[in-house]
Amino acid sequence: MEHDGTCLLIDLGFTVKETEKRLRRVGRSPADVAAVLVTHEHGDHIHGVAPFARKHCVPVYMTSGTYNSKRLGHLPQLHVISCHESIFIETFEITPVPVPHDAREPCQYLISADGRTLGLLTDLGHVTRFIEEQYSQCDALILECNHDVKMLATGPYSARLKKRVAGNYGHLSNEQAASLLTKVDLDRLQHLVIAHVSEKNNMPMLARDEICSASERWSGKLWLADQSDGLDWIDLA
Ligand SMILES: [Zn+2]
Ligand SMILES: [Zn+2]
Repeated sequence: MEHDGTCLLIDLGFTVKETEKRLRRVGRSPADVAAVLVTHEHGDHIHGVAPFARKHCVPVYMTSGTYNSKRLGHLPQLHVISCHESIFIETFEITPVPVPHDAREPCQYLISADGRTLGLLTDLGHVTRFIEEQYSQCDALILECNHDVKMLATGPYSARLKKRVAGNYGHLSNEQAASLLTKVDLDRLQHLVIAHVSEKNNMPMLARDEICSASERWSGKLWLADQSDGLDWIDLA
């Protein structure tokens, strides 16, 4: 995300080369990246963080649990954050939100600037009351719709993995994501991005249908973050 010339990345699962390519695609270069915030240590979120930070000398923010769970090697500038305290980077106020997920100290983020708030919420097994409260006033929301319950149950994953994904510390189903939308205030929400969609246990159409039926009166714009294409810039009014 970007505000007032400050560009932040959250998580980096791609190689340095792929990240550079994806930045170019949205008209930015690594030199534009002011910091990388990390949510947790799972590979799809952290693989590229240290190599990118080293190559381009970018500061990295993460909890101590996340940092200590992986051998990341030298980081040019590491900021260890608390899950319970907001931090400030240039014009951004960033509020970490602890989430139930099978990682050491995972958090998701609310990012505010100029009176607008973007909520990022992926990689959690269930939505707690605290999370409902924290995400109740977003202007944009990137929300995990990981799996369709039936597709996961009948899909190719092992019994152990199915249990993990569907469990309290796994990932949000389409249903769980939709249910959150019935509990938060959608009046301010301009954009909703469906994200972290499983390629094996979900279909974009199923996620979309579930989300739409839970937010019938909502008039904002619905997007889908595709793993291969990503998303172009979305402007917040
Ligand atoms: Zn993930
Ligand atoms: Zn994860």
